[in-house]
Amino acid sequence: MNQQHNEEFGGGIFARGEKNDAYARYFTGTSYLNMLSTERLAIYNVTFEPGCRNFWHIHHKGGQILLVTAGCGWYQQWGAPARALRPGDVVNIPPETKHWHGAAKDSWFAHVAVEVPAEGSCNEWLEAVSDEEYNRLESSA
Ligand code: MN
Repeated sequence: MNQQHNEEFGGGIFARGEKNDAYARYFTGTSYLNMLSTERLAIYNVTFEPGCRNFWHIHHKGGQILLVTAGCGWYQQWGAPARALRPGDVVNIPPETKHWHGAAKDSWFAHVAVEVPAEGSCNEWLEAVSDEEYNRLESSA
């Protein structure tokens, strides 16, 4: 991956990586995954095309920390208003919290995700964020 590819989504610190085929069934739209660390601590860069977001999901036991590196996006916990995200924002997602994250409809978006290690941790994937609820979010611009 080279700088030119990163510029396609407005510049990112980490390479975009390959199409995220392994988890495509848990995303609406196309995302890209670049594993930055697979030993001791799982750290990976996720890039979302405009309109792309993951399904509602829960990180059991460990939780997850997001470090926003590029573009504009959203984070939403179940039952709470969506939070707009910009580069430099940090989202600390507690375990057992139903949530989703992804791009704004008109912007690429990238974050680094850190999986908080815990005994017996796992991810539970739930329903998609419907177009109706997603389209209710304001444009990031
Ligand atoms: Mn998550």
